[in-house]
Amino acid sequence: MSYKAVNPFNGKTIREFPDATDAEVDQALKKANHFYHAAKNQPISERAAQLEKLANEFSEHNEKYARFLTTNMGKLISQARSEVKKNVEFAMYYVKNGAQALQPVPYNNIPGKEAHVEFSSIGTIMSVEPWNFPYTQIMRVFAPNFIIGNPVILKHASIVPECAQAFEDACKTAGIPEGAFKNLFINYDQVNHIIADTRVQGVALTGSENAGRKIAAEAGKNLKKSTMELGGTDVSIILNDADLKTAVEGTVAARLNNSGQVCTAAKRYIVQSGIYADFLAGIIDEFSKRRLGDPLDERTTLGPLSSRSAQQNLHQQVKKILAGGAKILWGDPELPQGPGALFNPLIISGMTLDNPMYDTELFGPVAQVYKADTEEDILKIANHSNYGLGGAVYSKDAEHAKHIASQVETGQVAINQPLSSYPELPFGGVKNSGYGRELSDMGIREFVNAKTILN
Ligand code: NDP
Repeated sequence: MSYKAVNPFNGKTIREFPDATDAEVDQALKKANHFYHAAKNQPISERAAQLEKLANEFSEHNEKYARFLTTNMGKLISQARSEVKKNVEFAMYYVKNGAQALQPVPYNNIPGKEAHVEFSSIGTIMSVEPWNFPYTQIMRVFAPNFIIGNPVILKHASIVPECAQAFEDACKTAGIPEGAFKNLFINYDQVNHIIADTRVQGVALTGSENAGRKIAAEAGKNLKKSTMELGGTDVSIILNDADLKTAVEGTVAARLNNSGQVCTAAKRYIVQSGIYADFLAGIIDEFSKRRLGDPLDERTTLGPLSSRSAQQNLHQQVKKILAGGAKILWGDPELPQGPGALFNPLIISGMTLDNPMYDTELFGPVAQVYKADTEEDILKIANHSNYGLGGAVYSKDAEHAKHIASQVETGQVAINQPLSSYPELPFGGVKNSGYGRELSDMGIREFVNAKTILN
């Protein structure tokens, strides 16, 4: 059985789930297609009411759902509760705004003619999701597509099966119609089989660049629209005139949240020379306050990585970085003893372009620091990346920070705050960070038939 929940703090197996059979896959496709056709004759308001019930289910049983996150992938229990809350916010955004975002758009710009574009469902969406935000990654895809009337079939990461099961159970409890959402414990071949099925019209993936290349190729081969939310090596730019406290707190939170396993985490700090020494002292102070331990213990402030293999992988990456000439400014690169996946936080400097690990996404509590004199140098370092997901700029001059932000080659940049996902705002990247947008009115229009009617 490849779907297995193992507590990453103590290495103990919690539960295994049987692999889905091909017959179950076919059944799921059939039921999804049935929902797709039935939803065409159902007003959006009915699905909005059903989605609200799902939001209420998560809201009323926050603790129950949060604990699956903590035990399956090691998220601090406080952050797990926040993820369940965010899951509710994502759903409620589409409950309240979904129908409006799908209103026809008039195009009365041809003399003597009237035209409009209307938006309708297109079919089943294959959603492949990662373990770092096990519920909200599903909800980002499910909520807008449910409102439109596109059913979603989920292949979740194999290490968070209880979370995948819990989401499906929540849908059943909330009365989400059969076929609208189905979690399947499937292998990669079965994912490809689903993508190739003619009833499937869209593919949404969040994950690594490697997974993105493979799934996007399958989607392309079958002429299916896809969205790819992939990795990043996001920068936090700290200008000389930044408010030190805001910059330190914001950048450390943006690096250590979720034990550093966030696509938009602040993986590279680029610090202007005038503030470098103070900033460094500030982040070392913050990093050293973190207490590694059991994510269920409220006193812990840095939980384990998601799995033993994630821990081993990051450990190897750090060794290669150091062999490539970079230096540890602060922290212990040795792995903590024990059966779990704990990882000591590290601050690294001296990463150069010729380091073989330059531009590798480090998915854990490892910050890289760069010092730069001019804004030109800062932007050169920031944009010397094949990724382009997010970033942040810290300066007391917000207008100036916005000017810098406009020149960072990514899909989103926050000013004087860590980058975060808001349901109201589009989320996505450029370059190897993928394509397409999730959330907001843009997210709900990714998998639609935008049909032009000309009169
Ligand atoms: P992956 O990208 O491999 O996994 C993400 C999802 O894709 C999982 O559900 C996985 O399934 C699935 N998947 C992967 N390859 C295929 C394929 N060929 N066909 C179908 N499904 C596939 O992430 P990992 O868990 O392996 O993490 C590796 C690295 O990826 C991390 O260290 C990090 O750098 C990056 N990553 C980035 C994320 C982000 O948010 N940007 C999220 C997760 C990872 P399964 O679990 O069964 O392999």
